Amino acid sequence: MTPDAEFGYELLVCRYAELAWHPNEGPRPAIVSRQLGTAERRWDTVVIEVDPAAFAARRAFGERTIDSDLLHVVRNAPAEWAWYRDALPHPGYPWRYVRQAVHRAAGRDLIEKRRRNNRIQLRRKRPYPEWVQRIVAIENKPDLDRSAADRLADQLVHDVETGLADEAWLATETTGDRVEPALLREMPVEAGILATDFADGVDADAAEVAWHPSDLAPAEHERRASDTETLRLEIAERAYGKGWRSFHDTMRPDCRHFELRGEGRALVPHCAAKAKSPTARECSGSCPEFSPEPPQWRTKGWPIEGGPGKGLELVLDRRRDRARDRIADDESE
Ligand code: SF4
Repeated sequence: MTPDAEFGYELLVCRYAELAWHPNEGPRPAIVSRQLGTAERRWDTVVIEVDPAAFAARRAFGERTIDSDLLHVVRNAPAEWAWYRDALPHPGYPWRYVRQAVHRAAGRDLIEKRRRNNRIQLRRKRPYPEWVQRIVAIENKPDLDRSAADRLADQLVHDVETGLADEAWLATETTGDRVEPALLREMPVEAGILATDFADGVDADAAEVAWHPSDLAPAEHERRASDTETLRLEIAERAYGKGWRSFHDTMRPDCRHFELRGEGRALVPHCAAKAKSPTARECSGSCPEFSPEPPQWRTKGWPIEGGPGKGLELVLDRRRDRARDRIADDESE
């Protein structure tokens, strides 16, 4: 069954990307996230292609996102002890924020700090690796109609122009009817088209490439502006920390009706009360049918503190970790 909600479709596309990336160029190590981008443009699905050895080195910094302030400290931390104002480039904002970031970074064990002559010094624990190779944006539209096609064409033109992504795709569902060729012709030629068929759930062969994308990366002798590079790294870091299964952070796995259902090789949220895959918006504390899991569920036979809801979150977190482990394992084989 294909979930009717676009949200459900998005999760299936994310799982497909995790299983099958790259769709027409053979396997590439990649992590997948969703709903990320900039103030101007939010991408549905984001694929970060990584260098496996550098990715393993990135994992040594922990499983959480390193945000932009921390990145400034971690990327520039010197090998030898130095006063933070000598060691770090001027950030373009007051030094007191950098000082706070130094404390935060040390608190997360990302760098070392000490005080000498009333000055805060820092040094790195390990170099921050160049782990991001390419960034790919996928726009998901299960039912491509005229107005959606127009909107998408504009968005994809924006992607092509800003050059923030290395590749842009449209994913659309082909179950039953074929994709309407006239609508597809209106997409920018640079954007790839992924024709999905999730009627039997997700597997690595549940999609076909209907149009090959162009490489949007700068030519060899050109470079991206350093602001763009920094923004790309911030997006990649958010993707790393968030993954695509973090829907449990905003939905209500602690509701007694909340379940995870298999759609082929994907696990997607299902509401037993509504007998469907709920959207993130409707599955919230304001849902009229929300019913907290009874306290006794948390004690009877549930080894995990917090009951079944917490158990589902753990299942999702473990799957995310397994996907990360696989990339690092590829490297050590
Ligand atoms: S009843 Fe509402 S809160 Fe509970 S799982 Fe269904 S949609 Fe989510």
